[in-house]
Amino acid sequence: MTDTWLVRTFLEPGHLSLAGKAMAFAGEQIATRPEPADDAAARTEARELLRLLGRGGWLKPIFDLDLRGCCLIREALSAASPLADAVFALQGLGTTPILLRGSAGQKARWLDRIAAGEVMTAFAMTEPEAGSDVSAIATRARREGSEYILDGGKTLISNAGIADLYTVFASTDPAAGPKGISCFLVPADAPGLRFAGPQVLSSPHPLGGLTFENCRVPADALLGEEGRGFGIGLAALDRLRPTVAAAACGMAARALEESLAHVKRRRQFGKPLAEFQLVQQKLARMATDLTAARLLVYRAAYEKDQGQERITTEAAMAKSFATEMAQRAVDDAVQLIGGRGVLASHPVDRLYRAVRALRIYEGTTEIQQLIIAGELLKG
Ligand SMILES: Cc1cc2nc3c(=O)[nH]c(=O)nc-3n(C[C@H](O)[C@H](O)[C@H](O)COP(=O)(O)OP(=O)(O)OC[C@H]3O[C@@H](n4cnc5c(N)ncnc54)[C@H](O)[C@@H]3O)c2cc1C
Repeated sequence: MTDTWLVRTFLEPGHLSLAGKAMAFAGEQIATRPEPADDAAARTEARELLRLLGRGGWLKPIFDLDLRGCCLIREALSAASPLADAVFALQGLGTTPILLRGSAGQKARWLDRIAAGEVMTAFAMTEPEAGSDVSAIATRARREGSEYILDGGKTLISNAGIADLYTVFASTDPAAGPKGISCFLVPADAPGLRFAGPQVLSSPHPLGGLTFENCRVPADALLGEEGRGFGIGLAALDRLRPTVAAAACGMAARALEESLAHVKRRRQFGKPLAEFQLVQQKLARMATDLTAARLLVYRAAYEKDQGQERITTEAAMAKSFATEMAQRAVDDAVQLIGGRGVLASHPVDRLYRAVRALRIYEGTTEIQQLIIAGELLKG
């Protein structure tokens, strides 16, 4: 499914074998797992998937800061199981702030267990009044002696309720706006941290709210310096956005594969659907858009892996184009497959439910467009 030939210019030899192995693993050990029946089952399955990923060493590219490796793995996982992809993605998002700005002590305490899949992470930024506008974060953190005390609430947090460690963004200086936001590593068992309950999606994906009430963490839970949390969060999102785009490509590739198999097999009006030109037009558009998206994804990841400080525009282009493309491709696949395509048991229905959120999380399409236009106008 992952066509490494197309993007070979952007890859190292090691990536080619990684892509092959990731596809085999995803096909044999992930795609074969049944979709969880409800939210409780999805939560148990997410932990099981994390153990599988950790034991198999699949989380390693996150820790090697190998963005192309992460993209290849997300492409393979998302085609097989959007939930497995989300588990990989969240382990990356929760951990990247530690990799970028963590102290030696914080790294020693957490990283090995995160890499092994024993500790599950989460990235807690969004609040009821702070979605696209992250600078509106209202959760407060105040220093008291050798501790920080957090008060506030988070919403729409992936892995809420099942994570062991939350990367939490809170304001230590409300008057300073975004320059007053700091980042904290808050273990799930910190006193005063409470899971506010699940928020259930149509696609299996553990999501929920968090409440901080007089939540006490030691001063060394601060990641980096006070007031630098906004930058840490944006740097993590900037780095990981191409991987969201890669996940979109994996879903679109699976949609195309399912469509091709179906239109060759299914006969109407005395011939295979594949012989009708209106059907061919959809296939051609899916394949062309997917190719363009993959070039944007691996271009962005390549630039980052080459040491480019920021890939803001490249990442925003890859994320907005690939996620919008995947939405169209999955919708086309459902249309080509017809009534069977909307049955909950069909792989394209599973993709249809999963693909929608990609255009929203880690910055909506509109926010990506504002980023791209902002960079253009700056020039
Ligand atoms: C499945 C899922 C998982 C998530 N996981 C996490 C997580 O793990 N951690 C976390 O912190 N958050 C998470 N989120 C939250 C996600 O990051 C936010 O939903 C997202 O940033 C958008 O915020 P919002 O939902 O509040 O929408 P809003 O910001 O209210 O936006 C609503 C609409 O208005 C548009 N809009 C907003 N501002 C502008 C503007 N200036 N110009 C034009 N249009 C604009 C948006 O594009 C969007 O279409 C998750 C969300 C989902 C759906």
